[in-house]
Amino acid sequence: MTERLVVIGGDAAGMSAAAVVKRQAADALEVVVLERGHHVSYSACGIPYWVSGDVEGPDRLVARTAAEHRRNGIDVRMRTEATSIDLSAATVEARDVDSGSRVQLGYDSLMIATGAVPRRPDLPGIDAAGVHGVQTLDDGERLLHRIESEQPRTAVVVGGGYIGLEMAEACLRRGLSVSLVDMADEPMTTLDPPVGALVREAMQDIGVDVRTGIAVSGLEVDARAHVCAVATDDGVLSADLVILALGVQPLTELASAAGLPTGLSGGLRTDATMRVDGSSQVFAAGDCVESWDRVSESWLHVPLGTHANKQGRVAGLNIAGRHATFPGVVRTAVTKVCDLEIGRTGLREADARRLGFDVVGVTIETTTKAGYFPGTQPMTVTMMADRATRRLLGAQIVGREGSAKRIDTCAMALWSQLTVDELMMSDLAYAPPFSSVWDPVQVAARAAVAELG
Ligand SMILES: Cc1cc2nc3c(=O)[nH]c(=O)nc-3n(C[C@H](O)[C@H](O)[C@H](O)COP(=O)(O)OP(=O)(O)OC[C@H]3O[C@@H](n4cnc5c(N)ncnc54)[C@H](O)[C@@H]3O)c2cc1C
Repeated sequence: MTERLVVIGGDAAGMSAAAVVKRQAADALEVVVLERGHHVSYSACGIPYWVSGDVEGPDRLVARTAAEHRRNGIDVRMRTEATSIDLSAATVEARDVDSGSRVQLGYDSLMIATGAVPRRPDLPGIDAAGVHGVQTLDDGERLLHRIESEQPRTAVVVGGGYIGLEMAEACLRRGLSVSLVDMADEPMTTLDPPVGALVREAMQDIGVDVRTGIAVSGLEVDARAHVCAVATDDGVLSADLVILALGVQPLTELASAAGLPTGLSGGLRTDATMRVDGSSQVFAAGDCVESWDRVSESWLHVPLGTHANKQGRVAGLNIAGRHATFPGVVRTAVTKVCDLEIGRTGLREADARRLGFDVVGVTIETTTKAGYFPGTQPMTVTMMADRATRRLLGAQIVGREGSAKRIDTCAMALWSQLTVDELMMSDLAYAPPFSSVWDPVQVAARAAVAELG
């Protein structure tokens, strides 16, 4: 009898696994995907650029439709929500979201790829009309519909992480007057505060009213049960629209209820083959799992599409009988706000000190191309090394066009546990239109080497 894989969740992690399994195992494995939303294989990462008007959506943000997957032999069941998992019987119960009808599916392998959900703090007014989270294309569609139908004039973005930044810019580009509120002293807490300050300045320069170091105490609602203002401990901000960008939490209730183990963040724990701990038949990947951070040597929730795709592929290969492992993360990420590019990898200074490293940190100002070359742009590189081993611990880059993706050089150095001496002398490309003769990353490494003595 043909074995069956059931996949719960049809986006990056789930569809990566399903597609790999189908490619590897063909008809030897029946693949059923349950997706409760209206889309599969979509790019949530594109939502801010869809809202801003830079890209068209939602169709352009779908890499492969359900019909295309079905043509490849995958049984994709849309608007179908998994409601429970019975590990001992190896079954999943699912419900048709529209009709309410229920079905029970047996499995030989189970792939959990339920992703994450935006945090919604328990604040007065949080469920009012006009309060939006952005996680799925359906969320993007609802938000755009509101912007187009209600023509809001003011928006408050709550949370200054990368999604908050991208959504603030998107709303600004839509012609709204935008405030961004964050409890931290600077936006982008994945950066060290002095680097975050550069991001704040850039946002203020484009006209975002950045309010840091303040907490939201509630949302005020008008007679139509529509949000009209955001109350903070530093006053009230008018808001026709509120976007929640307070980070996400792994969506693992279904898995936890079945008795599968989660870590401190609530994300599922897997081994490197993406098998859920203690289970040979159940795999998980993407925003619903914790990932092994190679630098801090700890399990962390790092909800990024780059990991979801790779972990899904690894799970798929193992389900199909091949052997593959996911080697962990170093927490590399890039984003931008208008023409300011931001990249980061590894530890922040505070993390490194907390972990007991004797940190040497340097910050250098340089340019994206040779200083004399037309179009050269300023950029700032911050780099940290461990005094004892001289190993690179982390880096952050903020600058104009051509800056952020240089963080990948630092990420590879971190991945390979290079010292800053090795990074300084590594063979990187140079020509005046692309870089100074010492690549900006190597200028920072050289400063770190000088500091280490
Ligand atoms: C606005 C935004 C911008 C982003 N930008 C970037 C970026 O620039 N770079 C980057 O690396 N990452 C980015 N990300 C993160 C990236 O989108 C996610 O890491 C990635 O989508 C995770 O994929 P996933 O498959 O694990 O989960 P998801 O994409 O969350 O998919 C999970 C799917 O499971 C479905 N589901 C959940 N529960 C059930 C159930 N019980 N039954 C059936 N279906 C279920 C959901 O409907 C959903 O479609 C961004 C995210 C957002 C929201």
